[in-house]
Amino acid sequence: MKRVILFPFMAQGHLIPFMQLAHLISHRKGYTVTIVNTPSNIDTLRSLLPSTSTTIHLSSLPFNPSDHNLPPNSESTHTLPSPLHILTLLRSSESLRPHFIRLLSDLSSSDGRPPLCIIADVFVAWTVEVARDLGIHHAVFTTCGGCGTAAYFSLWLHSPHLKTPDSSFGVPGFPDGFRLDRSQISGVLKASRGADDERSYSFRRYIRLSMESDAMLCNTVEEVEALGVKALRVVSGLPVWAVGPLLRGPKPVSSLNHDSRACMEWMDSRARGSVVYVSFGSQNRVTASQMRELALGLEMSGRDFVWVVRAPVGFDPEEEFRAEEWLPEGFEERMKNRGVVVRGWAPQVEILSHASVGAFLSHCGWNSVLESLSNGVPVIGWPMGADQYYNAKVMVEELGVCVELKRGLEGEIDGGDVARVVGVVMDGGEMKRRAVEVGVKMRAAMGGGEGGERRGSSLEAFDDFFDKVEAFYN
Ligand code: UDP
Repeated sequence: MKRVILFPFMAQGHLIPFMQLAHLISHRKGYTVTIVNTPSNIDTLRSLLPSTSTTIHLSSLPFNPSDHNLPPNSESTHTLPSPLHILTLLRSSESLRPHFIRLLSDLSSSDGRPPLCIIADVFVAWTVEVARDLGIHHAVFTTCGGCGTAAYFSLWLHSPHLKTPDSSFGVPGFPDGFRLDRSQISGVLKASRGADDERSYSFRRYIRLSMESDAMLCNTVEEVEALGVKALRVVSGLPVWAVGPLLRGPKPVSSLNHDSRACMEWMDSRARGSVVYVSFGSQNRVTASQMRELALGLEMSGRDFVWVVRAPVGFDPEEEFRAEEWLPEGFEERMKNRGVVVRGWAPQVEILSHASVGAFLSHCGWNSVLESLSNGVPVIGWPMGADQYYNAKVMVEELGVCVELKRGLEGEIDGGDVARVVGVVMDGGEMKRRAVEVGVKMRAAMGGGEGGERRGSSLEAFDDFFDKVEAFYN
């Protein structure tokens, strides 16, 4: 029996594409797949696993959040409480190393041979050292896009923003014309000023370790993100295979909870392409004043909307929903025929694949980008950190499927601008046409291959990667 080990980072946006990768590996290659993680993330993964699957196994490694000053269950990141936890998780994941080594040894004994390969998240790249010691092939899987990953690696490695007084600068590994602005540098990166302080050490360490891997898989499509994938090869120095989009499909509406079903039923009553969907991923929260401007903007836009609202920054995310404090006075009442405010968490994949959605006002997290574009939905971009700036840049400059909201120096937005941009994207026929075109390319990349039909580029890359792994193994 040939076994592949998958090791995602402990966050919702990472677990889902890893689970999809597991499906593809078990269906297409017939290998047994073992996904390794901490106990509560294994519970999340179990909820994503069809009960009929016999070839995908889940294996939990002992992990006690309190040993790492994390609140109970906080490594189960359905909604990550704060970016600070991500840093703690980055560091604490290394405590899993001895358990991981033991698991590999047990699996090798029971299978009679070592696993075919380990495919691990960039953020648990310490697994490279384990793989090297045991002579197992190792690949990192980035759940971000090509451009986002390449820009992120390059900025951490070379700090080009510190080498010029100008506001805009080129990025090593990208063509000359590719320039970023200081406002597109995340807080942690800005604060590190090129030196390894306690916070930035983990990021640099995992990037460097990733570059010691044998290969990289990226959740993107080569012909959609040609520039980004090319830059990723240059920046990482690794062979890169674009194997995306690895996405979960929509669930049947009947299986959704009551609130989600009500939201989908409301959308059924709306005209095609008439609804703006507003959501900022699994972790981001906006400030109270940003929330007010957003509400005003949606109201002024005159469009129908579905808005996923969470407690603004400064409020406890777990506390009861307090619309009267968080939203402008009378907002929900005035909007009751025009909008749905979803509390906390929405069935995003189902929403984005619904015909009534005309645009997605998004923080531009990579999964959200893939889910939107694969459904042909153009984007109103409000990037808030990390790779989100670079994802928005790809969508605006390369794909022409997004317009960004204007943000002030402190991230402030203006309701009038929100209304204007919503109008531009909702009425932008050409933008919609391009989004549909990108969606067609994305689906084609994962299609074909049956009855002599030509495989899509991502399936071809996927097969090619495993041919190389098999050659190393034999
Ligand atoms: N998501 C969801 N409902 C929500 C918010 C997020 O289903 O209310 C899912 C979304 O579909 C996506 C993931 O959570 O698959 C968020 O990943 P993304 O990369 O967009 O952003 P992140 O949370 O990593 O910043």
